Amino acid sequence: MLINEHYMNLSGNYLFAEIARKVKAFRELNPQTDVISLGIGDVTQPLAPAVVEALHHAADDMGSPASFRGYGPERGYEFLRQAIAFYDFAARGIDIKADEVFVSDGAKSDTGNFQELLSADSVVGVTDPVYPVYADANIMAGRSIVKLPCTADNNFVPELPREHLDVIYLCYPNNPTGTVLTRQQLSRWVAYALEHDALILYDAAYEAFISDTSIPHSIYEIAGARQCAIEFHSYSKTAGFTGLRCGYTVVPLDVTAATAAGRRIALNGLWNRRQSTKFNGTSYISQRAAQSIYTPQGRQQIQATINYYMHNAHQMLTTLRNLGHKTYGGENAPYIWMKTPGGLSSWQYFKLLLEEANVVCTPGIGFGPSGEGYVRFTAFNTRENTEKAMERIRAV
Ligand SMILES: *Cc1c(COP(=O)(O)O)cnc(C)c1O
Repeated sequence: MLINEHYMNLSGNYLFAEIARKVKAFRELNPQTDVISLGIGDVTQPLAPAVVEALHHAADDMGSPASFRGYGPERGYEFLRQAIAFYDFAARGIDIKADEVFVSDGAKSDTGNFQELLSADSVVGVTDPVYPVYADANIMAGRSIVKLPCTADNNFVPELPREHLDVIYLCYPNNPTGTVLTRQQLSRWVAYALEHDALILYDAAYEAFISDTSIPHSIYEIAGARQCAIEFHSYSKTAGFTGLRCGYTVVPLDVTAATAAGRRIALNGLWNRRQSTKFNGTSYISQRAAQSIYTPQGRQQIQATINYYMHNAHQMLTTLRNLGHKTYGGENAPYIWMKTPGGLSSWQYFKLLLEEANVVCTPGIGFGPSGEGYVRFTAFNTRENTEKAMERIRAV
């Protein structure tokens, strides 16, 4: 029996394992020191009360014969898809309907799986640095990847490629750089996609962290995107669902791709076919929990948590800038991307920060070659730990 040889082309994603190993070794040598992690991308604040209440109600539903639910509708429950279509789109003047929404168990699986609908020969573009899922899922499928460098020189906005791309993954607000795209910058990508018959896979996992009113929350705010873009959403960072699991994917009815014979096929129907074959839905209780985020109390409570994280980001930005560091992001995203001082490599600065300040950051090189010479800090921490970490960095 032979393996899928494409898996041998994956570069080892040892980043978080390597960080954990180095932190563990440091702790063993320095058992008295408490280490603060501004490295991992998981949330720290518990679920909002409205969400917990919805979970309790849904659990009761499941325990009573009259309200028990088994397998749900393949695309997700109508109650959630209607809430999404209204609050995330119609209320913002965006033309997306409930039958274009597919509820999922989160954005990681859908951003990884969507490429299955596309030809194995597709040329796929990803930004560099990048959230590794997009590239790795395509490498597993045997595709070649074009890296679009995002550097200080282009303000972390990838330039339009000279070559033809079939598929482009964009993630804004961006993980890891924390940067955003203006309406005009995003419009250029939509124009490119329409001109090249390319598909944009737009990861909007961090849209709820945008505070600047001129920055688009959804690619569908751009004219023409209904013809060329798929959009992924997640409740993980927005509402602390990393352990609960729920998100959704928008596949507009207007997005089509060609058969070899030139016939245009709607991706909405294909994705429905793919999901109903390989996915049996998100749990009823997770979907009820997600629905509660759209109630007045739910919206207010999750906004308070987002504000809490963004206050951390602001504190970090202020401290790092006052120390003379060059920083990016952190204003419309819970990540700060920082140039390492003195020309240190990402790992050299990681080591220095761990040993001198007992603070953990994420080496930028782990997200791609253009990340060398940068580190990422996350705002997903408690107020106390964030303040303590900044004090320590100031003291170094
Ligand atoms: C955290 C994150 C997600 C969310 O993944 P889930 O599977 O919904 O938890 C998606 N995209 C990016 C870029 C992320 O950082």
